[in-house]
Amino acid sequence: MKGCEGICNITMFNEESYKILFNNKKNYEDGHDDEKVKSVLEYTKTKEYMEKNFNREAVVINPLKACQPLGAFYAAIGFENTLPYLHGSQGCAAYFRSHFSRHFKEPFPAVSDSMTEDAAVFGGHNNIYEGLKNSYTLYKPEIIGMCTSCMAEVIGDDISSFVNNAKKQGDIPEDVDVVTAHTPSFVGSHITGYDNMLYEFIRYFGDELSPKHEKINVFLGFDTYLGNFTEIKRIFSLFGVECTIISDPSEMLNSPADGNYKMFRGGTKIEDLKKAPGAKGSIFLQTYSMSKTIQHVKNQWGQVTRVINPIGLKGFDDLLVAISELTGKEIPEELKAERGKLVDAITDSYYHVYGKRFAVTGDPDIAYGLTRFILELGGEPVHILVTNANKKFTKEINKLLEEFSKEDSCKVYPEKDMWHLRSLMFVEPVDYLIGNTFTKLVARDTDTPLIRIGFPIFDRHHLHRYPVIGYQGGINLLNWIVNGILEDIDNKTKDSPNFDIVR
Ligand code: SF4
Repeated sequence: MKGCEGICNITMFNEESYKILFNNKKNYEDGHDDEKVKSVLEYTKTKEYMEKNFNREAVVINPLKACQPLGAFYAAIGFENTLPYLHGSQGCAAYFRSHFSRHFKEPFPAVSDSMTEDAAVFGGHNNIYEGLKNSYTLYKPEIIGMCTSCMAEVIGDDISSFVNNAKKQGDIPEDVDVVTAHTPSFVGSHITGYDNMLYEFIRYFGDELSPKHEKINVFLGFDTYLGNFTEIKRIFSLFGVECTIISDPSEMLNSPADGNYKMFRGGTKIEDLKKAPGAKGSIFLQTYSMSKTIQHVKNQWGQVTRVINPIGLKGFDDLLVAISELTGKEIPEELKAERGKLVDAITDSYYHVYGKRFAVTGDPDIAYGLTRFILELGGEPVHILVTNANKKFTKEINKLLEEFSKEDSCKVYPEKDMWHLRSLMFVEPVDYLIGNTFTKLVARDTDTPLIRIGFPIFDRHHLHRYPVIGYQGGINLLNWIVNGILEDIDNKTKDSPNFDIVR
Protein backbone atom coordinates (compact mmCIF):
# COMPACT_ATOMS: atom_id res chain seq x y z
CA MET A 1 0.00 0.00 0.00
CA LYS A 2 1.49 3.31 -1.07
CA GLY A 3 2.19 5.86 1.65
CA CYS A 4 2.81 3.46 4.49
CA GLU A 5 5.10 0.79 3.11
CA GLY A 6 7.14 -0.78 5.82
CA ILE A 7 4.99 0.42 8.69
CA CYS A 8 1.40 -0.65 8.10
CA ASN A 9 0.12 -4.18 8.36
CA ILE A 10 -2.67 -3.90 5.81
CA THR A 11 -0.70 -5.72 3.13
CA MET A 12 2.30 -6.83 5.15
CA PHE A 13 1.14 -10.38 5.88
CA ASN A 14 0.65 -11.06 2.16
CA GLU A 15 4.35 -10.56 1.50
CA GLU A 16 6.35 -13.60 0.43
CA SER A 17 8.53 -13.55 3.54
CA TYR A 18 5.47 -13.87 5.79
CA LYS A 19 3.97 -16.64 3.66
CA ILE A 20 7.21 -18.61 4.10
CA LEU A 21 7.24 -17.83 7.82
CA PHE A 22 3.64 -19.05 8.32
CA ASN A 23 4.39 -22.18 6.35
CA ASN A 24 7.53 -22.91 8.35
CA LYS A 25 5.56 -22.40 11.57
CA LYS A 26 2.95 -24.88 10.43
CA ASN A 27 5.62 -27.45 9.50
CA TYR A 28 7.36 -26.93 12.83
CA GLU A 29 4.07 -27.49 14.69
CA ASP A 30 3.55 -30.67 12.66
CA GLY A 31 0.17 -29.37 11.51
CA HIS A 32 -2.28 -31.40 9.45
CA ASP A 33 -2.19 -31.15 5.70
CA ASP A 34 -4.47 -28.62 3.98
CA GLU A 35 -6.93 -31.27 2.86
CA LYS A 36 -7.53 -32.50 6.40
CA VAL A 37 -7.85 -28.98 7.78
CA LYS A 38 -10.36 -28.14 5.07
CA SER A 39 -12.49 -31.23 5.69
CA VAL A 40 -12.64 -30.62 9.47
CA LEU A 41 -13.47 -26.99 8.85
CA GLU A 42 -16.31 -27.99 6.56
CA TYR A 43 -17.62 -30.43 9.18
CA THR A 44 -17.79 -27.61 11.75
CA LYS A 45 -20.28 -25.87 9.48
CA THR A 46 -22.81 -28.71 9.59
CA LYS A 47 -25.99 -29.24 11.56
CA GLU A 48 -24.55 -32.39 13.09
CA TYR A 49 -21.61 -30.41 14.48
CA MET A 50 -23.91 -27.64 15.69
CA GLU A 51 -25.85 -30.14 17.80
CA LYS A 52 -22.60 -31.37 19.36
CA ASN A 53 -21.48 -27.78 19.87
CA PHE A 54 -24.69 -26.88 21.69
CA ASN A 55 -24.31 -29.89 23.97
CA ARG A 56 -20.90 -28.65 25.06
CA GLU A 57 -20.69 -28.08 28.81
CA ALA A 58 -17.11 -28.11 29.97
CA VAL A 59 -15.63 -25.30 27.92
CA VAL A 60 -16.50 -21.77 26.90
CA ILE A 61 -15.06 -20.46 23.61
CA ASN A 62 -14.86 -16.71 23.08
CA PRO A 63 -17.67 -15.54 25.35
CA LEU A 64 -19.13 -12.14 24.53
CA LYS A 65 -18.44 -10.65 27.92
CA ALA A 66 -15.59 -9.12 29.91
CA CYS A 67 -14.40 -9.33 33.51
CA GLN A 68 -16.18 -7.91 36.54
CA PRO A 69 -13.44 -5.37 37.43
CA LEU A 70 -13.65 -3.84 33.95
CA GLY A 71 -17.22 -2.83 34.72
CA ALA A 72 -16.21 -1.69 38.20
CA PHE A 73 -13.54 0.58 36.67
CA TYR A 74 -16.19 2.12 34.42
CA ALA A 75 -18.57 2.80 37.32
CA ALA A 76 -15.78 4.35 39.43
CA ILE A 77 -14.41 6.64 36.73
CA GLY A 78 -17.85 8.27 36.47
CA PHE A 79 -17.35 10.03 39.82
CA GLU A 80 -15.30 13.21 40.25
CA ASN A 81 -11.64 12.98 41.25
CA THR A 82 -11.84 9.20 41.50
CA LEU A 83 -9.05 6.80 40.70
CA PRO A 84 -10.13 3.26 39.76
CA TYR A 85 -7.83 0.82 41.55
CA LEU A 86 -7.51 -2.93 41.07
CA HIS A 87 -6.35 -5.05 43.95
CA GLY A 88 -4.93 -7.80 41.82
CA SER A 89 -2.65 -8.61 38.95
CA GLN A 90 -1.13 -5.97 36.75
CA GLY A 91 -2.06 -7.91 33.61
CA CYS A 92 -5.77 -7.77 34.44
CA ALA A 93 -5.67 -3.98 34.84
CA ALA A 94 -3.68 -3.61 31.61
CA TYR A 95 -6.37 -5.53 29.75
CA PHE A 96 -9.18 -3.34 31.16
CA ARG A 97 -7.30 -0.13 30.41
CA SER A 98 -6.44 -1.21 26.88
CA HIS A 99 -10.05 -2.23 26.24
CA PHE A 100 -11.27 1.22 27.20
CA SER A 101 -8.44 3.06 25.45
CA ARG A 102 -9.02 1.16 22.21
CA HIS A 103 -12.76 1.77 22.38
CA PHE A 104 -12.76 5.46 23.39
CA LYS A 105 -9.35 6.34 21.85
CA GLU A 106 -8.54 8.06 25.14
CA PRO A 107 -6.21 7.30 28.03
CA PHE A 108 -7.98 5.48 30.85
CA PRO A 109 -6.36 6.38 34.18
CA ALA A 110 -6.53 3.39 36.52
CA VAL A 111 -3.99 1.55 38.64
CA SER A 112 -3.32 -1.88 40.07
CA ASP A 113 -1.25 -3.02 43.04
CA SER A 114 0.37 -5.74 40.95
CA MET A 115 -0.17 -8.82 43.05
CA THR A 116 2.22 -11.64 42.22
CA GLU A 117 2.92 -15.16 43.49
CA ASP A 118 4.13 -14.07 46.94
CA ALA A 119 0.88 -12.18 47.57
CA ALA A 120 -1.08 -15.26 46.51
CA VAL A 121 0.70 -17.22 49.26
CA PHE A 122 1.01 -14.64 52.07
CA GLY A 123 -1.97 -12.36 51.32
CA GLY A 124 -2.18 -9.09 49.42
CA HIS A 125 -2.13 -6.66 52.37
CA ASN A 126 1.35 -5.30 51.58
CA ASN A 127 0.29 -4.69 47.99
CA ILE A 128 -2.63 -2.60 49.21
CA TYR A 129 -0.48 -0.60 51.65
CA GLU A 130 2.14 0.19 49.04
CA GLY A 131 -0.38 0.56 46.21
CA LEU A 132 -2.49 3.09 48.10
CA LYS A 133 0.59 5.02 49.18
CA ASN A 134 1.95 5.23 45.61
CA SER A 135 -1.45 6.06 44.11
CA TYR A 136 -2.03 8.90 46.52
CA THR A 137 1.50 10.27 46.29
CA LEU A 138 1.53 10.26 42.50
CA TYR A 139 -2.02 11.18 41.51
CA LYS A 140 -3.66 12.80 44.56
CA PRO A 141 -7.17 11.39 44.04
CA GLU A 142 -9.90 12.40 46.49
CA ILE A 143 -11.58 9.02 46.08
CA ILE A 144 -10.26 5.59 45.21
CA GLY A 145 -12.66 3.01 43.77
CA MET A 146 -11.06 -0.31 44.67
CA CYS A 147 -12.14 -3.59 43.09
CA THR A 148 -10.60 -7.05 43.03
CA SER A 149 -9.29 -9.51 40.46
CA CYS A 150 -9.71 -13.26 40.65
CA MET A 151 -6.49 -13.87 42.55
CA ALA A 152 -7.48 -11.57 45.43
CA GLU A 153 -10.90 -13.22 45.59
CA VAL A 154 -9.55 -16.78 45.51
CA ILE A 155 -7.31 -16.14 48.50
CA GLY A 156 -10.11 -14.20 50.24
CA ASP A 157 -8.34 -10.89 50.91
CA ASP A 158 -10.33 -8.69 53.30
CA ILE A 159 -9.82 -5.45 51.40
CA SER A 160 -11.86 -3.23 53.74
CA SER A 161 -9.71 -4.04 56.76
CA PHE A 162 -6.51 -3.71 54.70
CA VAL A 163 -7.68 -0.22 53.70
CA ASN A 164 -8.40 0.64 57.34
CA ASN A 165 -4.92 -0.55 58.30
CA ALA A 166 -3.39 1.52 55.50
CA LYS A 167 -5.11 4.61 56.88
CA LYS A 168 -4.12 3.84 60.49
CA GLN A 169 -0.47 3.40 59.57
CA GLY A 170 -0.49 6.62 57.51
CA ASP A 171 -0.11 5.21 53.99
CA ILE A 172 -2.91 7.50 52.87
CA PRO A 173 -4.67 10.31 54.75
CA GLU A 174 -7.80 9.34 56.69
CA ASP A 175 -9.94 11.71 54.63
CA VAL A 176 -9.24 9.97 51.30
CA ASP A 177 -12.38 7.97 50.61
CA VAL A 178 -11.73 4.41 49.48
CA VAL A 179 -14.83 2.65 48.17
CA THR A 180 -14.30 -1.10 48.01
CA ALA A 181 -16.18 -3.60 45.84
CA HIS A 182 -15.63 -7.33 45.54
CA THR A 183 -15.59 -8.25 41.86
CA PRO A 184 -14.68 -11.91 41.32
CA SER A 185 -14.59 -12.64 37.61
CA PHE A 186 -15.32 -16.33 37.95
CA VAL A 187 -18.96 -15.29 38.33
CA GLY A 188 -20.96 -12.74 36.34
CA SER A 189 -19.42 -10.36 33.85
CA HIS A 190 -18.44 -6.71 33.44
CA ILE A 191 -22.05 -5.65 34.04
CA THR A 192 -22.06 -7.43 37.41
CA GLY A 193 -18.85 -5.59 38.31
CA TYR A 194 -20.41 -2.30 37.23
CA ASP A 195 -23.39 -2.99 39.48
CA ASN A 196 -21.18 -3.99 42.41
CA MET A 197 -19.08 -0.81 42.27
CA LEU A 198 -22.06 1.50 41.71
CA TYR A 199 -23.87 -0.11 44.64
CA GLU A 200 -20.86 0.41 46.89
CA PHE A 201 -20.55 4.10 45.89
CA ILE A 202 -24.19 4.59 46.74
CA ARG A 203 -23.89 2.86 50.07
CA TYR A 204 -20.72 4.79 50.91
CA PHE A 205 -21.90 8.28 49.98
CA GLY A 206 -25.59 8.24 49.24
CA ASP A 207 -27.41 6.53 52.07
CA GLU A 208 -27.73 9.42 54.50
CA LEU A 209 -31.20 10.97 54.47
CA SER A 210 -30.96 14.27 52.63
CA PRO A 211 -33.47 17.15 52.34
CA LYS A 212 -36.11 16.70 49.63
CA HIS A 213 -35.58 18.54 46.34
CA GLU A 214 -36.97 18.64 42.81
CA LYS A 215 -34.11 17.02 40.86
CA ILE A 216 -34.36 13.63 39.19
CA ASN A 217 -31.58 11.04 39.40
CA VAL A 218 -30.69 9.28 36.17
CA PHE A 219 -28.66 6.09 36.11
CA LEU A 220 -27.46 5.14 32.62
CA GLY A 221 -25.79 1.88 33.62
CA PHE A 222 -22.89 0.29 31.73
CA ASP A 223 -23.48 2.59 28.77
CA THR A 224 -20.44 3.21 26.55
CA TYR A 225 -22.21 5.55 24.11
CA LEU A 226 -21.02 8.86 25.55
CA GLY A 227 -23.48 10.73 23.32
CA ASN A 228 -26.25 9.26 25.48
CA PHE A 229 -25.04 11.24 28.49
CA THR A 230 -25.15 14.49 26.52
CA GLU A 231 -28.55 13.56 25.12
CA ILE A 232 -30.02 12.94 28.58
CA LYS A 233 -28.76 16.33 29.80
CA ARG A 234 -30.25 18.03 26.71
CA ILE A 235 -33.62 16.33 27.17
CA PHE A 236 -33.87 17.31 30.81
CA SER A 237 -32.95 20.89 29.97
CA LEU A 238 -35.74 20.93 27.34
CA PHE A 239 -38.13 19.86 30.11
CA GLY A 240 -36.67 22.59 32.29
CA VAL A 241 -35.83 20.02 34.97
CA GLU A 242 -32.49 19.44 36.66
CA CYS A 243 -31.11 15.93 36.71
CA THR A 244 -28.20 14.26 38.43
CA ILE A 245 -26.52 11.58 36.36
CA ILE A 246 -25.17 9.01 38.77
CA SER A 247 -21.77 7.97 37.39
CA ASP A 248 -21.01 10.10 34.36
CA PRO A 249 -17.74 9.28 32.54
CA SER A 250 -18.59 11.39 29.49
CA GLU A 251 -16.09 14.22 30.11
CA MET A 252 -13.32 11.98 31.34
CA LEU A 253 -13.43 9.86 28.21
CA ASN A 254 -13.95 12.70 25.76
CA SER A 255 -11.35 15.23 26.77
CA PRO A 256 -10.17 18.04 24.48
CA ALA A 257 -6.63 18.00 23.06
CA ASP A 258 -5.64 21.39 24.49
CA GLY A 259 -2.13 20.48 25.54
CA ASN A 260 -3.06 19.91 29.20
CA TYR A 261 -3.63 16.37 30.37
CA LYS A 262 -5.84 16.18 33.42
CA MET A 263 -5.88 12.99 35.44
CA PHE A 264 -9.46 13.66 36.55
CA ARG A 265 -12.10 15.44 34.54
CA GLY A 266 -15.84 15.83 35.10
CA GLY A 267 -17.80 13.05 36.74
CA THR A 268 -20.71 13.05 39.18
CA LYS A 269 -20.02 15.38 42.07
CA ILE A 270 -20.00 13.62 45.43
CA GLU A 271 -22.11 16.41 46.95
CA ASP A 272 -24.77 15.59 44.29
CA LEU A 273 -24.54 11.88 45.06
CA LYS A 274 -25.07 12.67 48.75
CA LYS A 275 -28.20 14.63 47.88
CA ALA A 276 -29.53 11.95 45.50
CA PRO A 277 -31.74 10.19 48.11
CA GLY A 278 -33.72 13.44 48.52
CA ALA A 279 -34.54 13.67 44.79
CA LYS A 280 -38.07 13.48 43.46
CA GLY A 281 -37.33 10.18 41.78
CA SER A 282 -34.78 7.95 40.09
CA ILE A 283 -34.86 6.71 36.52
CA PHE A 284 -32.77 3.70 35.55
CA LEU A 285 -32.03 3.28 31.85
CA GLN A 286 -30.70 -0.26 32.13
CA THR A 287 -31.96 -3.23 34.10
CA TYR A 288 -29.38 -5.98 34.03
CA SER A 289 -26.27 -3.87 34.67
CA MET A 290 -27.80 -2.39 37.84
CA SER A 291 -30.10 -4.98 39.39
CA LYS A 292 -28.54 -4.79 42.88
CA THR A 293 -28.36 -0.99 42.76
CA ILE A 294 -31.99 -0.68 41.63
CA GLN A 295 -33.15 -2.89 44.47
CA HIS A 296 -31.13 -0.92 46.98
CA VAL A 297 -32.43 2.47 45.80
CA LYS A 298 -35.99 1.14 45.85
CA ASN A 299 -35.59 -0.16 49.38
CA GLN A 300 -33.53 2.63 50.93
CA TRP A 301 -34.31 5.93 49.25
CA GLY A 302 -38.10 5.81 49.52
CA GLN A 303 -38.66 7.61 46.24
CA VAL A 304 -40.39 6.84 42.95
CA THR A 305 -38.19 4.66 40.74
CA ARG A 306 -38.67 3.82 37.08
CA VAL A 307 -36.70 1.31 35.02
CA ILE A 308 -36.94 2.01 31.30
CA ASN A 309 -34.96 0.80 28.29
CA PRO A 310 -34.89 4.00 26.20
CA ILE A 311 -33.69 2.52 22.89
CA GLY A 312 -36.03 2.86 19.91
CA LEU A 313 -39.34 4.57 19.43
CA LYS A 314 -41.34 2.95 22.20
CA GLY A 315 -38.41 3.00 24.60
CA PHE A 316 -37.96 6.71 24.30
CA ASP A 317 -41.70 7.39 24.37
CA ASP A 318 -41.75 5.52 27.68
CA LEU A 319 -38.91 7.63 29.04
CA LEU A 320 -40.54 10.92 28.10
CA VAL A 321 -43.84 9.85 29.68
CA ALA A 322 -41.97 8.86 32.85
CA ILE A 323 -40.17 12.22 33.05
CA SER A 324 -43.45 14.02 32.43
CA GLU A 325 -45.26 12.01 35.13
CA LEU A 326 -42.46 12.41 37.66
CA THR A 327 -42.09 16.16 37.16
CA GLY A 328 -45.65 17.11 36.23
CA LYS A 329 -44.30 18.87 33.10
CA GLU A 330 -45.63 18.55 29.57
CA ILE A 331 -43.47 16.81 26.97
CA PRO A 332 -41.73 19.70 25.13
CA GLU A 333 -42.88 20.49 21.58
CA GLU A 334 -39.29 20.22 20.36
CA LEU A 335 -39.17 16.58 21.42
CA LYS A 336 -42.53 15.89 19.82
CA ALA A 337 -41.11 17.29 16.57
CA GLU A 338 -38.02 15.10 16.94
CA ARG A 339 -40.29 12.08 17.29
CA GLY A 340 -41.95 12.99 14.01
CA LYS A 341 -38.56 13.21 12.36
CA LEU A 342 -37.59 9.73 13.54
CA VAL A 343 -40.91 8.35 12.31
CA ASP A 344 -40.27 10.06 8.97
CA ALA A 345 -36.76 8.60 8.77
CA ILE A 346 -38.12 5.13 9.56
CA THR A 347 -40.73 5.54 6.82
CA ASP A 348 -37.98 6.52 4.35
CA SER A 349 -35.92 3.41 5.11
CA TYR A 350 -38.56 0.90 6.18
CA TYR A 351 -38.68 -1.03 2.91
CA HIS A 352 -34.93 -1.78 3.08
CA VAL A 353 -35.10 -3.23 6.60
CA TYR A 354 -38.48 -4.94 6.30
CA GLY A 355 -38.16 -8.73 6.31
CA LYS A 356 -34.36 -8.75 6.69
CA ARG A 357 -33.09 -11.44 9.05
CA PHE A 358 -30.84 -10.35 11.93
CA ALA A 359 -28.69 -12.01 14.57
CA VAL A 360 -28.41 -9.72 17.59
CA THR A 361 -25.60 -10.02 20.13
CA GLY A 362 -24.46 -7.82 23.00
CA ASP A 363 -25.03 -7.11 26.66
CA PRO A 364 -28.60 -7.81 27.79
CA ASP A 365 -29.81 -4.21 27.98
CA ILE A 366 -28.58 -3.16 24.57
CA ALA A 367 -29.62 -6.49 23.00
CA TYR A 368 -33.15 -5.98 24.33
CA GLY A 369 -33.37 -2.40 23.04
CA LEU A 370 -31.92 -3.27 19.64
CA THR A 371 -34.22 -6.26 19.20
CA ARG A 372 -37.25 -4.08 19.91
CA PHE A 373 -35.99 -1.38 17.52
CA ILE A 374 -35.42 -3.92 14.74
CA LEU A 375 -38.98 -5.16 15.28
CA GLU A 376 -40.21 -1.56 15.09
CA LEU A 377 -38.38 -1.25 11.76
CA GLY A 378 -40.06 -4.37 10.38
CA GLY A 379 -36.88 -6.46 10.56
CA GLU A 380 -36.83 -10.11 11.64
CA PRO A 381 -34.62 -10.95 14.61
CA VAL A 382 -33.76 -14.63 14.22
CA HIS A 383 -31.02 -15.29 16.80
CA ILE A 384 -30.53 -13.30 19.99
CA LEU A 385 -27.32 -14.46 21.62
CA VAL A 386 -26.35 -12.90 24.94
CA THR A 387 -23.52 -14.52 26.89
CA ASN A 388 -24.18 -12.61 30.10
CA ALA A 389 -27.96 -13.09 30.10
CA ASN A 390 -29.91 -14.41 33.05
CA LYS A 391 -33.33 -16.07 33.33
CA LYS A 392 -35.09 -12.73 33.78
CA PHE A 393 -33.65 -11.45 30.49
CA THR A 394 -34.73 -14.59 28.64
CA LYS A 395 -38.23 -14.28 30.03
CA GLU A 396 -38.54 -10.59 29.20
CA ILE A 397 -37.19 -10.81 25.68
CA ASN A 398 -39.42 -13.80 24.94
CA LYS A 399 -42.35 -11.68 26.12
CA LEU A 400 -41.28 -8.95 23.71
CA LEU A 401 -41.11 -11.46 20.84
CA GLU A 402 -44.62 -12.66 21.70
CA GLU A 403 -45.90 -9.07 21.55
CA PHE A 404 -44.66 -8.93 17.95
CA SER A 405 -45.80 -12.53 17.21
CA LYS A 406 -42.18 -13.56 16.58
CA GLU A 407 -41.86 -16.22 19.26
CA ASP A 408 -41.71 -19.00 16.65
CA SER A 409 -39.31 -17.35 14.22
CA CYS A 410 -36.76 -16.03 16.73
CA LYS A 411 -34.82 -17.90 19.38
CA VAL A 412 -32.98 -16.55 22.40
CA TYR A 413 -29.60 -18.04 23.36
CA PRO A 414 -28.61 -17.02 26.89
CA GLU A 415 -25.13 -17.93 28.20
CA LYS A 416 -23.88 -18.96 24.75
CA ASP A 417 -20.58 -17.87 23.20
CA MET A 418 -19.19 -16.92 19.81
CA TRP A 419 -18.47 -20.52 18.84
CA HIS A 420 -22.18 -21.26 19.27
CA LEU A 421 -22.92 -18.14 17.25
CA ARG A 422 -20.69 -19.39 14.44
CA SER A 423 -22.58 -22.68 14.27
CA LEU A 424 -25.91 -20.89 14.22
CA MET A 425 -24.82 -18.56 11.45
CA PHE A 426 -23.68 -21.44 9.25
CA VAL A 427 -26.70 -23.68 9.81
CA GLU A 428 -29.43 -21.04 10.08
CA PRO A 429 -27.92 -18.05 8.27
CA VAL A 430 -29.15 -14.49 8.62
CA ASP A 431 -28.77 -11.42 6.43
CA TYR A 432 -27.02 -9.24 9.03
CA LEU A 433 -25.19 -9.65 12.29
CA ILE A 434 -25.29 -6.94 14.95
CA GLY A 435 -22.46 -6.99 17.43
CA ASN A 436 -19.15 -5.63 18.68
CA THR A 437 -15.73 -5.80 17.07
CA PHE A 438 -15.08 -9.34 18.26
CA THR A 439 -18.07 -10.64 16.30
CA LYS A 440 -16.17 -9.62 13.16
CA LEU A 441 -14.50 -13.04 13.43
CA VAL A 442 -17.84 -14.79 12.98
CA ALA A 443 -19.04 -12.27 10.39
CA ARG A 444 -15.97 -12.91 8.23
CA ASP A 445 -16.08 -16.64 8.71
CA THR A 446 -19.73 -16.90 7.73
CA ASP A 447 -19.66 -14.10 5.15
CA THR A 448 -22.35 -12.13 6.96
CA PRO A 449 -22.28 -8.32 6.92
CA LEU A 450 -21.61 -6.91 10.38
CA ILE A 451 -23.35 -3.84 11.76
CA ARG A 452 -21.20 -2.63 14.62
CA ILE A 453 -23.23 -1.69 17.68
CA GLY A 454 -22.19 -2.44 21.25
CA PHE A 455 -19.00 -2.64 23.29
CA PRO A 456 -16.15 -2.86 22.59
CA ILE A 457 -15.73 -1.38 19.13
CA PHE A 458 -12.05 -1.10 18.32
CA ASP A 459 -12.05 -1.16 14.54
CA ARG A 460 -14.27 1.83 13.80
CA HIS A 461 -13.72 5.30 15.19
CA HIS A 462 -16.06 7.72 16.95
CA LEU A 463 -19.25 5.65 17.04
CA HIS A 464 -19.26 5.94 20.84
CA ARG A 465 -19.61 9.72 20.52
CA TYR A 466 -23.14 9.40 19.13
CA PRO A 467 -26.29 8.81 21.16
CA VAL A 468 -28.26 5.63 20.56
CA ILE A 469 -31.12 6.72 22.84
CA GLY A 470 -33.61 9.49 22.24
CA TYR A 471 -35.25 10.14 18.90
CA GLN A 472 -31.93 11.44 17.59
CA GLY A 473 -30.24 8.30 18.85
CA GLY A 474 -32.91 6.33 16.99
CA ILE A 475 -31.90 8.10 13.79
CA ASN A 476 -28.26 7.18 14.43
CA LEU A 477 -29.15 3.52 14.92
CA LEU A 478 -31.33 3.57 11.84
CA ASN A 479 -28.48 5.19 9.91
CA TRP A 480 -26.02 2.44 10.91
CA ILE A 481 -28.51 -0.34 10.19
CA VAL A 482 -29.96 0.85 6.89
CA ASN A 483 -26.65 2.09 5.51
CA GLY A 484 -25.09 -1.23 6.50
CA ILE A 485 -27.76 -2.87 4.39
CA LEU A 486 -27.20 -0.48 1.46
CA GLU A 487 -23.42 -0.99 1.64
CA ASP A 488 -24.05 -4.71 1.42
CA ILE A 489 -26.34 -4.26 -1.59
CA ASP A 490 -23.66 -2.18 -3.32
CA ASN A 491 -21.03 -4.83 -2.60
CA LYS A 492 -23.26 -7.58 -3.93
CA THR A 493 -24.10 -5.69 -7.11
CA LYS A 494 -20.74 -4.17 -8.00
CA ASP A 495 -20.05 -6.67 -10.80
CA SER A 496 -23.60 -6.58 -12.14
CA PRO A 497 -25.55 -4.14 -14.30
CA ASN A 498 -27.53 -3.24 -11.17
CA PHE A 499 -26.02 0.20 -10.62
CA ASP A 500 -28.39 2.43 -8.68
CA ILE A 501 -27.62 5.99 -7.70
CA VAL A 502 -30.85 6.21 -5.73
CA ARG A 503 -31.94 3.52 -3.34
S1 SF4 B 1 -10.65 -13.46 34.57
FE1 SF4 B 1 -9.79 -12.75 36.54
S2 SF4 B 1 -7.58 -13.11 36.33
FE2 SF4 B 1 -8.45 -13.14 34.26
S3 SF4 B 1 -8.27 -11.03 33.49
FE3 SF4 B 1 -10.30 -11.24 34.44
S4 SF4 B 1 -10.02 -10.52 36.52
FE4 SF4 B 1 -7.99 -10.97 35.72
